[in-house]
Amino acid sequence: MVEIVHQGHRMWENYHKTAACNPKQRLELLNDSAANGRALLKDVAETVMALLKEARQYQIPVRPIGAGWSPAPINVVEDGWLVETLRLNRTFKLSAADLHPDCDVGAEALLLVQAGATVDEVYESAEEIGRSMRTGGASNGQTFAGACATGTHGSVWRSGGIQDHLRAIQLVTPERILWIAPERAVLSDAFIAQTGSEIIRDDRIFAAAQVHIGALGFVTAMLVETDPIFMVQNIQKAATIRREHIDWLSEGNFRKFSQEFGLNEEPYFQQLILNPFDPFDKKALLRFLYRRPYDASIPAPTPGQMGAGYDALTLLGKAMARFNLFEAEILQLAMEQAYPQDRDVDDPPAIATWGNTTEEHSPIASLFNGSVTIERSLLNDVFDLIIDNFRRGGGGTVVTLRFVHKAQGLLAPARWEDNVVIDFDGPNVATSHNGYKNVVTALDDAGIAFTRHWGKTNNLDARRVIQDYEQDYANWRWAQTQIMPDAADRQIFANDELVKLGLV
Ligand SMILES: Cc1cc2nc3c(=O)[nH]c(=O)nc-3n(C[C@H](O)[C@H](O)[C@H](O)COP(=O)(O)OP(=O)(O)OC[C@H]3O[C@@H](n4cnc5c(N)ncnc54)[C@H](O)[C@@H]3O)c2cc1C
Repeated sequence: MVEIVHQGHRMWENYHKTAACNPKQRLELLNDSAANGRALLKDVAETVMALLKEARQYQIPVRPIGAGWSPAPINVVEDGWLVETLRLNRTFKLSAADLHPDCDVGAEALLLVQAGATVDEVYESAEEIGRSMRTGGASNGQTFAGACATGTHGSVWRSGGIQDHLRAIQLVTPERILWIAPERAVLSDAFIAQTGSEIIRDDRIFAAAQVHIGALGFVTAMLVETDPIFMVQNIQKAATIRREHIDWLSEGNFRKFSQEFGLNEEPYFQQLILNPFDPFDKKALLRFLYRRPYDASIPAPTPGQMGAGYDALTLLGKAMARFNLFEAEILQLAMEQAYPQDRDVDDPPAIATWGNTTEEHSPIASLFNGSVTIERSLLNDVFDLIIDNFRRGGGGTVVTLRFVHKAQGLLAPARWEDNVVIDFDGPNVATSHNGYKNVVTALDDAGIAFTRHWGKTNNLDARRVIQDYEQDYANWRWAQTQIMPDAADRQIFANDELVKLGLV
């Protein structure tokens, strides 16, 4: 039997202490010792369905949570059940016998992942069997279901979000245990039946579920596609960039940019952290990762040498413990001191697997983070507008540029063919919020289309979500009614934020 641990009536705060709630009950789900993956998936899904039925009977809202890493209040619930999933964290290999005859990938490429497995646990499981994830966010403590929920992304410019790895999703509602997959089948019907699930093979419903934002049901497991294992070489340094470099990045001329600051080859991953007080005079923090073949004989560098902890949130958390950031010089000092060890082109190469490019994160301070995603080719036109407005609005901390290909999922914020994501990270104070609001207003005034991260501070509402996603929003709502035709079932997954966003 899957165990439900009742932790009682206790306040809950998210990871960055940007949202809190007073749930009726905090519940934690614990795996049983089922002999195989299918049996375990079935046990967990049946337990969750029973819980959801009870919740519906007493009209109690339920909020599944992962690691609680979203600063946006999408992971809180007042007077409801907060259901913790972090200990549903097993992963399973598959064999050729489990596959559907139409399947277009080998069994070795697939992993069955429980909802609460963290990104780090999934990286590790993949690498143990000689495989690798192809992209991910800056840190690795999110759950896989939670990271997919919001379209978590990094800066692998030829890849979309972490949800692009998904090939199927097991989703539980008060009435049904569903196996949602694209029309082209991957796993055999017999295998899916043994997980206790009813099959929906539909491209549109699957695309809705890839970025589910916690409003399509309770995700209990996912089928994840991996790549053959590879390594990456890290170059990480502080350098002064010029205006023309922004032009190259807008054009997607990453090789040229890399040639100037890193190696003379196309980077797999590329990111810039800038000081908005003076982006062209003060040094920017650059990180490049170059793809390398897997070589087990290479001694693993430390996470610091691989640039792990490179993200602006970690950097600022460390820096904020020591400095007042709202001055250009001090911010610059903080940026350079807190940035993980430099690794330049002439240094001995630091090469490791993808799973070694991130490390654990611990919350150091209450931080603000917000972002806007725009079509990459517009970066050059809007760069000054964004930086000036962020700074004038009072946002004095770092700005990060990351590059993402069109991501899968109807509600994926990276919705253009090529995207730049501009992150604003800083202390969780009014000036950071005002700086971000200023950027959003300036982009609107300039008529620039953009989207925002579901999991970060975003000031979105239903009207704006409809405007941003148009037909994709309508299709997502349609998929929701296919998954949960009864409005009472959909209401189980309501919280204030999801209602405000027009997602329930
Ligand atoms: C230190 C740090 C670094 C970050 N770096 C990045 C980054 O590099 N790139 C990026 O894009 N984002 C980044 N983020 C944002 C983060 O990746 C997302 O907010 C992500 O959604 C958090 O995952 P989680 O497991 O904590 O989900 P939670 O915050 O717990 O939940 C997110 C949503 O998913 C729902 N949910 C969770 N589990 C389930 C489930 N099993 N079934 C149904 N619904 C579920 C929740 O109810 C909620 O609506 C970062 C956040 C932090 C704190």
